[in-house]
Amino acid sequence: LLVIENLTKKFGDKTVFKDINVTVKKGEVIAVIGPSGAGKSTFLRAINMLDAPTSGDVLFEGNQLTNLKEIQLDQLREKMGMVFQGFNLFPNLTVLENIKLAPLKVKGQDDKIATETAKRLLAQVGLSDKADQYPASLSGGQKQRVAIARALAMSPDMLLFDEPTSALDPEMVGEVLAVMKQLAEDGMTMIVVTHEMGFAREVADQVWFMADGGIQEIAEPKTFFETPKTERARDFLQKVL
Ligand code: ATP
Ligand code: MG
Repeated sequence: LLVIENLTKKFGDKTVFKDINVTVKKGEVIAVIGPSGAGKSTFLRAINMLDAPTSGDVLFEGNQLTNLKEIQLDQLREKMGMVFQGFNLFPNLTVLENIKLAPLKVKGQDDKIATETAKRLLAQVGLSDKADQYPASLSGGQKQRVAIARALAMSPDMLLFDEPTSALDPEMVGEVLAVMKQLAEDGMTMIVVTHEMGFAREVADQVWFMADGGIQEIAEPKTFFETPKTERARDFLQKVL
């Protein structure tokens, strides 16, 4: 589904990461973990060209994103939803309107169909009773679940998450992770940048450990957490576990 070849990102003279080569198969869940400043967010933004890489290629469903014009990119980005740390909901729209917005405006979907889909997705994230409320009246965990429903409304083939729970109060982390876990079980392909080691361990098919300008280890969670290969990973795990 996704092939990343020799991906390199520099800001001026500063290399954030260099020559990353990884692939993601349909249905796989990847947890990207690593120290602050390792370039995890920059990596995600390079994958969907929100912040174009300096060199290297990203192939998504056979399309070479690094070669595409903005218009074509927009179409492919619909298939690659993104959920951020801050929820970026529109404050002046209700929950239901937030979810319907892109399907209506970008896809030109019929209002009736968009409404049905939005209601189904709200039920899926456990928020059917919040359809007509405004984001300001929701808790952080509820807002993030709406943000996930909004991403799903575009029927993406893959979702990218950048620390979706790190802005949340601890008691709300679980409800968001539960929704993500259910998505994983339903077969959604996901790349999740996260500090939630429990989630990485329990839900991910692979861990990508990012540090010092690249992905230093790729392993199944059990292997990574029990027998990390690099000193860098051992050091990191000692600090976070
Ligand atoms: P965190 O866990 O704190 O979110 P991260 O792994 O996501 O960290 P990034 O935000 O990707 O790290 O940042 C990687 C490096 O790139 C940092 O040193 C950061 O200062 C630098 N950086 C990020 N964005 C820019 C930018 N627009 N211009 C210049 N440098 C940047
Ligand atoms: Mg980040």
